[in-house]
Formats: sequence, structure tokens, C-alpha cells
Amino acid sequence: MVLKDKKTNITFHSGLRTIGGTLIEIAYEDSRIFFDFGSEYNPALPEQPETLQQLLDAKLVTYVEHIFDPAIELTGYKQESENPFVNTAVFVSHVHLDHTKIINYLDPAIPCYTLEGTKSLLNTLNINNDFLFPRVNPVDGKNTRDIVGVDHNEIVSVGSIQVKVMPIDHDAYGACGLLIQTPDMTIAYTGDLRIHGYRPEDTFAFCEASKHCDMLIIEGVSVSFQEIDSEVGEKGDLNEPALMKRLQTLVQENPDKQMTFNYYIANVERIMQLIETCPRTVVLDAYSAYVVKQATGFDAFYYQLDDINYNLEGDKQIAFETLLQDTTRFFWQLETNAIKYIDKMQSGGIYVHSNAQPLGEFDPAYQPFIDNFAAHNIEFVLASCSGHAHPRDLISVIDMIEPKVLVPIHSFRPEKLYNNFGEVFLPEKGQTI
Ligand SMILES: [Zn+2]
Ligand SMILES: [Zn+2]
Repeated sequence: MVLKDKKTNITFHSGLRTIGGTLIEIAYEDSRIFFDFGSEYNPALPEQPETLQQLLDAKLVTYVEHIFDPAIELTGYKQESENPFVNTAVFVSHVHLDHTKIINYLDPAIPCYTLEGTKSLLNTLNINNDFLFPRVNPVDGKNTRDIVGVDHNEIVSVGSIQVKVMPIDHDAYGACGLLIQTPDMTIAYTGDLRIHGYRPEDTFAFCEASKHCDMLIIEGVSVSFQEIDSEVGEKGDLNEPALMKRLQTLVQENPDKQMTFNYYIANVERIMQLIETCPRTVVLDAYSAYVVKQATGFDAFYYQLDDINYNLEGDKQIAFETLLQDTTRFFWQLETNAIKYIDKMQSGGIYVHSNAQPLGEFDPAYQPFIDNFAAHNIEFVLASCSGHAHPRDLISVIDMIEPKVLVPIHSFRPEKLYNNFGEVFLPEKGQTI
């Protein structure tokens, strides 16, 4: 490889030929950083792991010495050596669980950095202590460990390593990429990215800043399922504005039908766009309305089925009965709690599934979920837009950056990506270079 005489060590712990659980370490002498800190997820497991021990045993998380909370007792994983690192930090690119789910297992003495937007969203989403894996014996009683929120393009120093935290276009509010500078290398990590969402200019600015870097570590989710030259828009809508247009038309063309939807809660920008452009009144469930309010300050209309106090404005509340009965005025979120009432919904209505759970056929819950709508004569409409760059766009991102070495990860088929300007390196799990 062109970089063989460098002193920077890069270890690819996990998340390479799979989507989730990216854990990469960059070390220089006594300083090191990690990104990200989520877990792999296997919906087909008979029982989902609930502790760090179970995650490690199921090989959904990789064991690394001196990074986990020492209060967690583990059997079968021993720290063999004294910790040679004086400076350690973890960076999280965005709020999606495959990048964050185990941050409460991180040693409380190790700082965890992310953009301010991701920090506030994580704290908000974890209000019921069920978004992240819960902390073990927290002394301060908080659900979420301390996170350091940084500003757009702020540079964080971790010993001799400097990390610029740059906003990036993805379907999670507050997403970032990292531009990492060690004394002898520049490494760009995209996190999850795209150029067809609400902030393509952020992705372009990241590309510009990363130009000619030594190593580009890029996600390759879309090439897991599509060829590089496949038609854009084959799977889901072309881009976020096209998706929004389609939803508007669907609502306009069905004035008499009960219309419901669900989306992924971290996609704050999509729901704000929907609220602004939809011909009907958009009504969220209380938890989603709370998340929107915390992220943007906006008071959305909501209904409430649980008894948690989210501190929402009372005059924005719509009775759930009203949503069931009035089939013409509202476009409302059919959240998991509300699906129980599907028997009371209008036969002949429409439900729109917009990147909500269950996500797709790989989840055994997906087909029964669809069948339930059919059984109640409710039309199931899939209206999704990927958070991940289309295959051609991934190549154009690589072409913009012109890295000396390309490392595609976060993909079932990382070998599909190519580098017109240098080498491609496909690391093995656990490999250090
Ligand atoms: Zn993501
Ligand atoms: Zn991801």
C-alpha cells in the first residue's frame, strides 16, 4: 500500500462487510480515537441480546481493551495489558442505532463527541430509557451518558490527533462526517451520507475539505443491494423533494379516505417538510411531537395514547377518537401504540410507510405487518427515500475527494466501490494497518 511507512495505526474492529456496528480505531503513539459506537443487529435472532455480555457473546459487538465501562462485569473478556493510551475519545457520526446503541457501555472516563444536533436528539430519544442500551449503575441517575456536543466544523484535539466534525447530508438530524488529522496522515470518514436529501451542500463541503486525503473510509450501503449503474429511484423515491411531492399528490387525490403514515423518528427534517407542505393537518403521536419540539422548537399537532408528561402545548392535542372518526381532515401518524386500534379504522383507507419500522423484508416482522393492513382492507403504500447515497453518487463522492486509498465499509458488497484516483483496500475484521 502507498501508506506503508506511516506511524498511524488504523484498526478495523467491526462493521466492515455488514451494515451496522462500525468500530474503527485510529491511533498515534499514546493517542487514539474510535468511531462509531453502535452494535450490529440481527432481527432474526430468537432472542435479542440485552447486555454487553450477550452482545459480545453473540458477536454483535467486538471486544476492545480499555474502552468499556469498568462497572460492567464481563466473563471471558480479560484486559491483558496496562492501558498504553493517555488520550482516548469516541466520535459518533449520527443518531441511528447501528452507530450509537452501545454508547452507555463506553467507559464514563472516555469522552464521547458528536454534533450538538445529534447530542440533543439522543438525549430526547432516550427519554424513556429504551432507545440506547441502558447504563449500568449510573451515579447521576441520567438515562444517557455525558456526550460532548460540538459545533459544525469544530476541531477536537485528542492528544496528537485532531478531528474536524463536519455536518453531512443523511436521513438523521445532526449527522456528521469526520476529517481526522494525525501527525502523518489525513483520514476522512463519511459516516452515512447522501447528496439527494435536504443538505447536499454539506456533503459537498465535506468532499472539498477531504480532497486528496490519504484514506477515505466510506459507507457503501446502497451497493449492497444495487449495481453501480442501476437506475436511480428503482428502490424508493429519487430524492426527498420527490417523495414530498408524491405524498402531497396522494393526499390531494384521496379527499375522502382516512390517511395515516409512519416514519423514522430521527428524520426530523422530513417530518417538518411534511407538516409544511401537506394539504391536510399532520398529527403526530406525542413522543414524536416531543422529539420534533426538542430538535426544532416547533409545536406540532399530536395525539397521546401513553401517560408520559412530554410538556406539550395542550391546544395542539387532538383526541384519538377524532382521528378515528374524521377521515377527511387529518394525515396522522400511525405509531406502534395506535396500530392496536386498526379494527376501528376506516375500511378502504390508506397507510403510508415512509422508512418506518419494520424496515424491510430482512425483518421477519415485515410481511405480517403488511398482511395486517390487507386484512383490514387498508391500502399499504411504500413511500421511502434512502438516507444513503445512490451507487452513482458514491462514485461521484469518491471522484470529488480523489483519495490515495479508498476503504469501503458498512456494506454487504464493499468490493463494488472503486477508486479512479488510487488504491482500494478491503480490510479484514480486526485487521490493523
Ligand atoms: Zn444512518
Ligand atoms: Zn448506518
